[in-house]
Amino acid sequence: MTGWLRDKATLVTGAASGIGEAVADRFVDEGARVCAFDRDAAGLERLAARHPQHVVTVAGDVRSWDDNRRAVRTAADAFGRLDVFVANAGVGDAFVRLVDLAPDELERAFDEIFGVDVKGYLLGARAAVPALVQTGGCMILTASSAGVFAGTGGVLYTAAKHAVVGLIRQLAHELAPKVRVNGVAPGGTLTGMQPAPSLRDRGGPRPETSRAERIRVANPLGLAMRPSDHTAAYVLLASDQARAMTGVVLESDGGLRARGLWDVAGGRDL
Ligand code: NAD
Repeated sequence: MTGWLRDKATLVTGAASGIGEAVADRFVDEGARVCAFDRDAAGLERLAARHPQHVVTVAGDVRSWDDNRRAVRTAADAFGRLDVFVANAGVGDAFVRLVDLAPDELERAFDEIFGVDVKGYLLGARAAVPALVQTGGCMILTASSAGVFAGTGGVLYTAAKHAVVGLIRQLAHELAPKVRVNGVAPGGTLTGMQPAPSLRDRGGPRPETSRAERIRVANPLGLAMRPSDHTAAYVLLASDQARAMTGVVLESDGGLRARGLWDVAGGRDL
């Protein structure tokens, strides 16, 4: 796969690290130009330094309408068009269960997680639609195995990622035949993904070796997945090769659907 995205103008949120950064790198390798949008200005600078001819950056917050509009305008000004919007910026919930959230904590964490993982996607999609209608372009939303199965996140992250799958289906329906809308659902992946601020002390960074081992034993293929393991799915969906695909969520998770999860957590310590 080289040149699958030749001259495509793309916008990727959460592109300063992890899966979004790997998607941006891979899109450039496939011939695309990338507008990288993230709140991590230092990470954006590192990405742009690797690809000075092909990447422009926007530092901002996906929860802000103005920042989303600025990101789309920056892409359109730099590239003259927009072909692909990737909504990807996200925060997690440290796998916290409903019964372990105090009510005030639940309200705060809900606003934080749904603000980034759902409202951020909606605002980005709303801002990108007019430009994508002009080009007959497409959107790709990063979902998660937590948008497909229970038990791969806590209650808030799982609900938010199921909402993302609903968004993919509804937007595919609303925007056809002009704009294709699909998703990628990665399984547990070795990134620095952070829990929402109010849940930071619940999870915290764990040693990479033990996280790698937890991910490896949880999927049938036994993979400790890296961000680059998922990028081919984004390239396919962004390319003209996928012109018959919309409303689809590609599961890139080491085969969870082939077995389901090992861990049965229901009813423990209530
Ligand atoms: P990551 O932390 O490496 O990347 C997320 C990026 O989003 C960061 O660069 C961060 O700065 C940015 N971001 C967060 N909040 C933002 C905001 N309000 N405004 C702008 N930028 C913001 O984590 P990742 O694992 O690469 O996560 C990327 C996506 O992949 C998320 O949607 C996540 O839910 C999803 N995902 C991750 C995993 C995993 O195990 N890592 C599995 C499935 C799905």
